Amino acid sequence: MGADGGSQEQVEIPGILHLDMDAFFASVEIRDDPSLRGLPVVVGGAGARGVVAAASYPARTRGIRSAMPMATARRLAPDLLIVPPRGDHYRMISAQVMAILNSVVADVEQLSIDEAFLDVRGARRLFGEPEQIAALLRRRIRDELGLPSSVGGSVSRAVAKIASAHAKPDGQLIVPAADTAEFLAPLPVSAVSGIGPKAVAALEKIGVHRIGEIRDIPPNALARVLGPRAPEIRRLAEGCDRTGLGRQVRERSLGTERTWDEDLTDGDEVRRRITMMADDVARQLRQEGTVARTVVLKLRSPDGTTITRSSTLDQPTASGERLREHVVALWERERHRLRRIRLAGVRVTHLESSGTAPVQHELASRSTLWRDLETAMDQATSRFGAASLSRGSTLGPASDGAQRTEDPDGR
Ligand SMILES: [Mg+2]
Repeated sequence: MGADGGSQEQVEIPGILHLDMDAFFASVEIRDDPSLRGLPVVVGGAGARGVVAAASYPARTRGIRSAMPMATARRLAPDLLIVPPRGDHYRMISAQVMAILNSVVADVEQLSIDEAFLDVRGARRLFGEPEQIAALLRRRIRDELGLPSSVGGSVSRAVAKIASAHAKPDGQLIVPAADTAEFLAPLPVSAVSGIGPKAVAALEKIGVHRIGEIRDIPPNALARVLGPRAPEIRRLAEGCDRTGLGRQVRERSLGTERTWDEDLTDGDEVRRRITMMADDVARQLRQEGTVARTVVLKLRSPDGTTITRSSTLDQPTASGERLREHVVALWERERHRLRRIRLAGVRVTHLESSGTAPVQHELASRSTLWRDLETAMDQATSRFGAASLSRGSTLGPASDGAQRTEDPDGR
């Protein structure tokens, strides 16, 4: 027998599953009030600026989609039933869903409130092939929680996610390794998570509408359109992507650090400076198309005493607002220890590609607002330079001149 083991191990198992609840918030409301069944139900704000957070399938057949303004939804379905969102309730049920997944599969990576990736290759001896495990999970969620879900399976997370979208509602689709490229070829490029409307338009300009057509584009042309993600997306189109769980967790960090010639003795001034650093780090994240899960504050006094404190966020982010909140909270906890500050730094770790951490619109409306605002600020900054813009509480001499640093060792 060769060193490569028996033939059993060489069969490629499409064991990366993507489980996604169907119209999650709407399904919960219909479960809790069966008189809503079969009706065009949406969850969301009913006010003038309300947005659809989730739409039942009867609402979807009328053209209603999540993230659509409620006024538009009302126009499409005058008999629309609007249920106000119950975030805490959905979070509790989400925890129940995840508990079911974790009771069957050891490797679960929760992606958002209602979806997760699972690596079931280690669960086969106990529970069978990926098809059987997907059916088991969906049946348990149905029996124990009364909710519909869909599962996609593949040799890669990207394809599994596309497959689960295909299987909806209340279905499952496991794509064998050898069929991957063929499965993807006829699909629109927008089916790939992370290819947004801008990239779609750019691809269409070079004549690419379907995933299969990506294979025919010369690498340079594709890189011009898709940037650093081009090789990864080509591998996907060729059916060669094999990325499993936690792929985007890169062991590197990104941040900014500054030493001052004169010690800072005013706590409010320190707070102002680290706030600006947090904004700068968030800008770097957005420029890279990454989000971070952990933020680290480093402080050093003139005698060399160094304090490093970190905070893990419940959702990965590229929002300056979120990073500021955490950095300031860390500072408020530690400020009594250091009367004089010589060096301060803000750093983020556990970076992920922002395309892989979707947050449902409804619960994120506030952060969406911030993201829009911050994107606008990024554009203004790149046009006018970093000193041209800062938020209210950081107004003041913008002469900080913090050094951008990248630390591949993640220290
Ligand atoms: Mg869902």
